[in-house]
Amino acid sequence: MCAASAAARGRSTLVVDHSNKVGKKILMSGGGRCNFTNYFVEPQNYISANPHFCKSALSRFTQWDFIALVDKHGLAYHEKSQGQLFCDNKASDILNILLSECEQHGAVIQTHCDIHSIDKQSIDKHEHFELKTSQGQFSCDSLVVATGGLSIPTMGASPKGYQIAEQFGLQVSDKRAALVPFTLSNRWLDICKQLAGVSVDVVVENQRQSFKEALLFTHRGLSGPAILQISSYWQEGESVKINFMPDTDVQNLLKSWRSEGQTAELKNLFKRLDKHSLAKNFLNLWLQGWANLKPADLSDQQINDISERLQSWSCKPSGTEGWRTAEVTLGGVLTDELSSKTFEAKKQPGLYFIGEVIDVTGWLGGFNFQWAWASGWCAGQYV
Ligand SMILES: Cc1cc2nc3c(=O)[nH]c(=O)nc-3n(C[C@H](O)[C@H](O)[C@H](O)COP(=O)(O)OP(=O)(O)OC[C@H]3O[C@@H](n4cnc5c(N)ncnc54)[C@H](O)[C@@H]3O)c2cc1C
Repeated sequence: MCAASAAARGRSTLVVDHSNKVGKKILMSGGGRCNFTNYFVEPQNYISANPHFCKSALSRFTQWDFIALVDKHGLAYHEKSQGQLFCDNKASDILNILLSECEQHGAVIQTHCDIHSIDKQSIDKHEHFELKTSQGQFSCDSLVVATGGLSIPTMGASPKGYQIAEQFGLQVSDKRAALVPFTLSNRWLDICKQLAGVSVDVVVENQRQSFKEALLFTHRGLSGPAILQISSYWQEGESVKINFMPDTDVQNLLKSWRSEGQTAELKNLFKRLDKHSLAKNFLNLWLQGWANLKPADLSDQQINDISERLQSWSCKPSGTEGWRTAEVTLGGVLTDELSSKTFEAKKQPGLYFIGEVIDVTGWLGGFNFQWAWASGWCAGQYV
């Protein structure tokens, strides 16, 4: 995005990438259909030590600008849910748009290019960068670092961008895997294994955030959009609260069934109530012995326990699946080091950072690509 927009301004532009092809994360995104943006992009959809930093770029290159680009290329797309836009066909359609924009404006792409060293040099007071690479030596007035985050190392992720920042005296925050499944242990893991593949609409929350989305049980623990979203707000050792029946007041319901003298088993009563979202096995496994009880026989304590298990389950993950499956990296080059207008490093004229390598992390739903497009386009106006 940055290369195409810089080249469109007439800048001589070279993209160097150590992978065998560019845009691999685009190709693997959104289940192969790339959730390329969202109709409802707001600064609140981003996490950063400075929540204001993203505002400028997001307002100068909006989702509508990217949609206009996609429309210009005649790409077919659809809204899945909550404003999330996906390709009708393949994620490669999005990559092809970017490649064709680069080609049209004369930006050159050099793959299989390992960077050995970067130096800043000054000749006759003209500062420039010298790159020594496996494909030869290059020099440039502006060097844009767009190396992304640490997730999925097998797809070309590397810490190079953070190392370049540190080499030039820029601060980098701690980094954590985010938008990542939780792992559980002990008896909860046993239950998750038995429920693997079952999806339930939940509200998951902690003191910082709350999300109403689907949860998916897996062989390792919990995943699905609800869990990926809250993982970005979770820290090692903390618990999150999960409500498996967010649209029902279970305590009141159990009390009213008890006063009616209901003698059907709880699992059958709940299933009648919500047979779609609470899959067959879920109640048996989740409520265990309680599933066979009859409301007429319930004590107040049992009503409390059952409603707590269903509506306020305190889940303490043992960890996350880590970089292997995380969609993004939380943290990165500190935004205080950069101009929010140009993305140039304040201390190092000519050095720019864009995209995920910066300490700006989007929610699930097309927000991370929108950040990559917006920051790339903005830097492309100044390099
Ligand atoms: C499985 C998965 C699915 C995702 N799905 C979505 C989605 O649907 N919607 C969404 O908005 N976001 C999604 N994301 C997040 C999104 O892919 C990233 O936030 C986005 O790609 C970041 O763009 P970027 O240009 O900053 O970095 P990247 O796209 O990661 O690109 C970095 C580039 O730098 C190159 N590079 C790295 N190190 C070096 C080095 N040492 N030398 C040379 N080159 C190097 C890499 O090869 C790569 O080509 C997903 C991520 C994953 C992992």
